Amino acid sequence: MESPSKRDHTSANPSQMPVLFVGHGSPMNAIEENAYATAWRVMGEQLPRPKAILSISAHWYVHGTSVHGGEHPRTIYDFWGFPEELYRQTYPCPGSPTYARMTQETLSKKKVGWDLDWGLDHGTWIVTKRMFPDADIPVFQLSIDYSKPAQFHYDLGRQLRDLRSRGVLILASGNIVHNLGLVQFEETAKPFEWALEFDARARELITASDHKKLIDYESLGPAARFAVPTPDHYLPLLYALGAQSPEDELNYFSSGVEFGSVSMTAFRLG
Ligand code: ZN
Repeated sequence: MESPSKRDHTSANPSQMPVLFVGHGSPMNAIEENAYATAWRVMGEQLPRPKAILSISAHWYVHGTSVHGGEHPRTIYDFWGFPEELYRQTYPCPGSPTYARMTQETLSKKKVGWDLDWGLDHGTWIVTKRMFPDADIPVFQLSIDYSKPAQFHYDLGRQLRDLRSRGVLILASGNIVHNLGLVQFEETAKPFEWALEFDARARELITASDHKKLIDYESLGPAARFAVPTPDHYLPLLYALGAQSPEDELNYFSSGVEFGSVSMTAFRLG
């Protein structure tokens, strides 16, 4: 059990849980001590304690929107060729059939499936492991439907906003810039110009709450085409922005571009 003093229970608006967007990057961020791990840990200590965490991860990118309703979500190792130590990590938190059902009801205008096979993919658990290391808060995931346009995902985020007043922390986990085809693992690798440009442009639009341009990201020029070659890691951002309330404060708590082409931008709303 964590001590009550460890966590700062304050929030800009205590009646609404915050929303997070986290650039998760490499699965190694689960075990490597680096600036991202520190930023996630510190954020976890600052957050009010949620009743449950709803995670929308880039790695549950399937046909159809489903909510995972299992009581004991498994830790999924959806990556290959990493050190053994990473495969020994687990995140044995409870699931929450109750909050999963509530999510399904909140999204009742859309057809949302009930899933018992998934669990927690690395987009979720590498982050929650740092933020809530005791694994004592229920976590459940919502899948991202690859057949739907950007506006659909933003609209779903808007409907999920209601869950914030019911104690649910919305965690959207992806990467604003994510081009695996062009990653560079050399330590001397510098971020690509287009990666820096698109990350900066997106942050500018997030700060200005110009969601329309972010939904229509494909019109943001050549940098957008390199930064978002496929939508999977970008779409979680639209869920987070959809769930934003006008009174939310915006705070960035991580930044930088890893491996030349993966942006680690993370922010908190509310
Ligand atoms: Zn990823």
